[in-house]
Amino acid sequence: MADSRQQVAVVGTGMAGLVTAYILRNDPRGRFDVQVFEKQDKLSLDSASHTLTDTKSGEKSERLDLPMRAFADGYYLSLRRMYDHFGITYGSPRFIYALSKLANTQASPYFIHSSNNHQVPLLRPNGLSWISWLIEVCYLAVCYYWFTACCFFVTPETVESAGAEETLRQYVDRIRLPQYYVKHYMLPLMSSVTTCSHEALLDFPAVDLVDYERRTFRQKHYTVLGGVHRVQTKLSEGLTHTLGAKVTSVENVGTKVQVSWTDTDGQSSTRLFDHVILGVTPDVVGAIFQPLRSAMAAIPTTTVQSVVHRDFSRIINASKSIWTQMSWGSNQSPPQPIHMCSNDGATESIHEHPSSALITTYPIAPIDPEKVVYTATFTRVLRSAASRQIVNHIFGKSIADEKSHLWRNGDGNVWLVGGWCWDGMVMLEGCLASATRVANALDVEVPW
Ligand SMILES: Cc1cc2nc3c(=O)[nH]c(=O)nc-3n(C[C@H](O)[C@H](O)[C@H](O)COP(=O)(O)OP(=O)(O)OC[C@H]3O[C@@H](n4cnc5c(N)ncnc54)[C@H](O)[C@@H]3O)c2cc1C
Repeated sequence: MADSRQQVAVVGTGMAGLVTAYILRNDPRGRFDVQVFEKQDKLSLDSASHTLTDTKSGEKSERLDLPMRAFADGYYLSLRRMYDHFGITYGSPRFIYALSKLANTQASPYFIHSSNNHQVPLLRPNGLSWISWLIEVCYLAVCYYWFTACCFFVTPETVESAGAEETLRQYVDRIRLPQYYVKHYMLPLMSSVTTCSHEALLDFPAVDLVDYERRTFRQKHYTVLGGVHRVQTKLSEGLTHTLGAKVTSVENVGTKVQVSWTDTDGQSSTRLFDHVILGVTPDVVGAIFQPLRSAMAAIPTTTVQSVVHRDFSRIINASKSIWTQMSWGSNQSPPQPIHMCSNDGATESIHEHPSSALITTYPIAPIDPEKVVYTATFTRVLRSAASRQIVNHIFGKSIADEKSHLWRNGDGNVWLVGGWCWDGMVMLEGCLASATRVANALDVEVPW
């Protein structure tokens, strides 16, 4: 039995790598030995999260999940099933979103709204007269319900349906969504989910955003209680992993797949496996796996930072204006303001975390370096019309270009998993969907 077990390498220990490794390790027929490679010196799913130290006592206190890794009913069906299977608890924090222009050093909100409209009556930004505010709310309501109705009834064009992919930019033009609404509301809110520039977001396939809007409409949003390290602990119990191992190439050698890596001392090693699963971003896939070098170059990525800090200077007035108007029950935890500050090209979000630290994601204005506590840097995979075609071709969904010789998932027993490895937004659900695809191909039961 031991000799007949298949040797599997999983490269990367984000959500996708860890979930795939967990499913294969728990194959009811026990057919797989799984070895996981991670270039960092710790497992990566929780590696960017940060434990705040109390400035007075010096004791470690709250754990901040970076990224926040929020999820919602309607879109994250497999993720929720997995969390429920592991008994991971999650809650629905109440957020207050304050939309501001980054015109000068102070953010001054032009609109404030609450997640799932939990705050009634609506909060009125300081400095805006009742009349101007009511006009703005009415205008916004009309645009919002028009956009929502379109998401349900005006299907975006795709290569499959119309021979060409419609971008978000083309879709909002086609449905005649007013530019003022697009610029001041739609792009700031959507780009806080996709964490990229407004231009890059407008190049996304419309079908991604429309599907996301439709499926999360009026749904609850959640975050894991106690931190995402609980998920990592469950997924990695009994896992065989090699940390500090940067995989440098993956090659087919006869019927096997050879993995080469270097350790932190610069020592190189190689080993043959029956299957190799790449749970890394497309830029890394292109660098280590020759058959996908040129295809991966067409999948856009960007670098995003999340900064934990105590530089309140920019939001001090906006924050005061929110807190003075807010009320909450004695058995409720206070809502959490998120300031979305935009310039012409991008939006940063500044989260007033209950720990009293601020977390700025995708910073576009300077933060006082003296007040920075911690910075995490991520590679964010984006979507475009071209990249959707490549991804769909690799995962066998494409109808176009059937005769192309482009590599397909599973060729030569090499598999791809990741937030980007499905036809949708690059989010945690893509990690689960792609891990499930590998499980199905290898005939392994998914335990949730
Ligand atoms: C700022 C930000 C906010 C986000 N917010 C949310 C959110 O709220 N909700 C949500 O659903 N999604 C969110 N996402 C998206 C989501 O976090 C990602 O889609 C998901 O984490 C991707 O996981 P992954 O396992 O595919 O890849 P990754 O997490 O990128 O893991 C890849 C791993 O491979 C390792 N690696 C890379 N190269 C090598 C190599 N050569 N050898 C060995 N190991 C290597 C890396 O160290 C890393 O551990 C956010 C993303 C960002 C950047």
